[in-house]
Amino acid sequence: MRGPTPCLIGTTLGSCSFVMPGARGPLRECKRCHTELGRAKKCVEVTVPGSLGHKTYCPGCFAKILDATQAKLNSLRADLEPLLAA
Ligand SMILES: [Zn+2]
Repeated sequence: MRGPTPCLIGTTLGSCSFVMPGARGPLRECKRCHTELGRAKKCVEVTVPGSLGHKTYCPGCFAKILDATQAKLNSLRADLEPLLAA
């Protein structure tokens, strides 16, 4: 083993960051609920692996995405536990 422990989030597999839409550029819209995101409101940018693009989500939708991610992590953990104990 070498280097830092890899993380499934925040690597080339896709990363997310909180960004301000800013005064420049087009108005953004949440990819999921299609709410228009104001320029003064923080939103979440998730890069799309294998492309130069990204998806923008409002905080509410990102919370749901995090919940789904957590559920997946929990299920992975549940599958892993017996293997660690063995
Ligand atoms: Zn949304």
